[in-house]
Amino acid sequence: PTTLRLDRLLANLGYGSRREIQQMVRAGFVTLDGAELEDADQRIAITPDLSARMQIDGAPLDPPPGLVLMLHKPLGVTCSHKEAGPLVYGLFPSRWRSRDPALSTIGRLDKETSGLLLLTDDGALLHRIISPRNHVTKRYHVILDRPMRGDEAEIFAAGTLMLDGEDKPLLPVPMEVISPTEAYVTLTEGRYHQVRRMFAAVGNHVTALHRDRVGDLALPNDLEPGQYRVLSEADVSLVL
Ligand code: URA
Repeated sequence: PTTLRLDRLLANLGYGSRREIQQMVRAGFVTLDGAELEDADQRIAITPDLSARMQIDGAPLDPPPGLVLMLHKPLGVTCSHKEAGPLVYGLFPSRWRSRDPALSTIGRLDKETSGLLLLTDDGALLHRIISPRNHVTKRYHVILDRPMRGDEAEIFAAGTLMLDGEDKPLLPVPMEVISPTEAYVTLTEGRYHQVRRMFAAVGNHVTALHRDRVGDLALPNDLEPGQYRVLSEADVSLVL
C-alpha cells in the first residue's frame, strides 16, 4: 500500500494544519490499534481498514484517501456549483469539504432526480467509470405523466432517436415496461437530461426519475435518502 506521513495524512483529511496536527499527536489524541502515536513524521500505510484502527480524539478516522462512496441522493440537491440550491457535498461532515484530494461526484444526477450517486477522490477511477468507452450502464426508474403509446420501447431500442439540438443519434436504450406510466430504462451514455428528453421526444413527460443501479451495483433498500456508505473494493468491482 501507499504510505503517507501521519501529519500529511491528517492535514489532507481536513483535521487541521500540519502544525496543529503535530500538537494533537504530542497531546496523545491520535491512536493506532489502541496505542498512542508519538511521532507525527512516521509513515502510515493507507489501507481500507485504517478508519477502524486509527482514532482521533476517540473517534474513528475519516475514510482515508482512495475513497468511493455511494449516496442515496435526495430530491432538491444539486451535483454542480453552477446550479442553484444546496449541493450534495453538504450531506457529508463539514470537515470533508477540506479534503485534499477533494471528493467529486462520478457523473451527475439532476436536482430533481433521486437515487444512486457515486463519489470519489480518485481521479483515475472517476474517469474509468464515466468514460463512454467502458459502457458502464445506469438504470433509471421512470414515472410518466401520461400512458405510453406502445411504440416507445422499439424507438428507444433502435439506436436512431435524435434528441432536440443534437446531431448524433442516441445509442440503443433498453426499456422494461412496468405499467403504462412506469418503466426502467438503461443508459450507456449520459447526455444532458437524457431520460427526460427521450420521453419528451415521444410526446410524454417524466414526473419522477430515480436511479437504482450503476453497472451491477444496486442502491440498497435500507439506504435512505441523504444517507451514504463507503464502498468496499468488491462493491466498486460491480460498477466496472
Ligand atoms: N437523465 C435525466 O434526464 N436526468 C438525470 O438526472 C439522469 C438521466
